[in-house]
Amino acid sequence: MKKTYLFTPGPTQIPPEVVLAEASPMIHHRTSEFSDIFANVSENLKYVFQTKDGEVFTFASSGTGGMEACVANTLSRGDKAIVVSGGKFGERWAQICGTYGVNTVKIEVENGKAVDPAVVNDTIEKEQDAKVVFTTLSETSTGVIHNIEAIAKVVKGRNLLLAVDGISGIGVQPFKMDDWGIDIAVTGSQKGFMLPPGLAFVCVAQSAWDSIEKSDLPKYYWNLKKMRKALSSKTTAYTPAISLIMAAGKSIEIIRSEGIEKVWARHAKLAHATREGIKALGLELFANDAAGNVLTSVKIPKGVNFDAGIKKLRDETGVTIAGGQDELKGKIFRVGHMGYVNEFDIVLAISAVEKILHEGGYKVELGKGVSRVQEILVG
Ligand SMILES: *Cc1c(COP(=O)(O)O)cnc(C)c1O
Repeated sequence: MKKTYLFTPGPTQIPPEVVLAEASPMIHHRTSEFSDIFANVSENLKYVFQTKDGEVFTFASSGTGGMEACVANTLSRGDKAIVVSGGKFGERWAQICGTYGVNTVKIEVENGKAVDPAVVNDTIEKEQDAKVVFTTLSETSTGVIHNIEAIAKVVKGRNLLLAVDGISGIGVQPFKMDDWGIDIAVTGSQKGFMLPPGLAFVCVAQSAWDSIEKSDLPKYYWNLKKMRKALSSKTTAYTPAISLIMAAGKSIEIIRSEGIEKVWARHAKLAHATREGIKALGLELFANDAAGNVLTSVKIPKGVNFDAGIKKLRDETGVTIAGGQDELKGKIFRVGHMGYVNEFDIVLAISAVEKILHEGGYKVELGKGVSRVQEILVG
């Protein structure tokens, strides 16, 4: 018998109502039936981004496609961009910019640390001709949350845009498009949205349209001007991922009915319980002060082949947690707690960590982490 529990930082677990919505009979997309569903989803997405004036565009792609759309639409040939790079996903902005021949200035941030907004300020002062600052809300490779609100203050009032990769963060970690003054932000379906992979949502503030109108970087599918024209007729430029959009209607309804502040607070509580459980096992957190609601990254104790333990656990029990990526492989593991997650999921995730440690020969008192989690959650 196989039962699956995903504690990975994407994809995440999906509520049964959302699975059922996705399994609805196929409809044609050039119909009023689809237009109504799509208009409703596009409107409700604004709530998740916390915007009234912005517009949200839905691409049939993973999150990275939405990132590419941000680059290809806000910049022009010969432009300069600033990228905050503190992990695999910050680095992805730099790679996409590089692909488009954009002159890229990187702010290198140590893995596991958040960027200092003062450094962003200094970089903008030095690079007066930069057009966009690309940042990450939740750096999923390390568990770090960058202080987007503070960075936005630094960027505001100057002649450049702020782009935010909120792919694992939005809908999990507080994020306020309008109040903070973000110009363009992207998220994906398979993290906090409790959806399968396959949709990218790009939210564009009115402040970004001047640059988008002028942008001459090459693009065909990723064209926000075409998407805007289509959205004004309640549709997409090309065939949408109809089933996923029907599923999104359901998942966003679930988010709306809980209320976004309560969604953030639930995640904060679960993140806190996870970290307390980890500490009770004598393990050390990786992104300590800079960690947020999305996932918990933990240093792998010496002598334990944790990655082998992760694989064995997954194969034998269906419970999946994640290892580190790239240079953090074998050094950290990551427990995702985003989306369709409640308190007993955390009990289960921590008991899974205990099992891996125990079987990996690390001295652990079974139940000690779980007991700490229970203490926090009943309290
Ligand atoms: C998951 C993730 C991505 C990549 O998204 P894909 O859907 O795999 O393309 C980018 N940035 C962040 C912060 C992520 O968490």
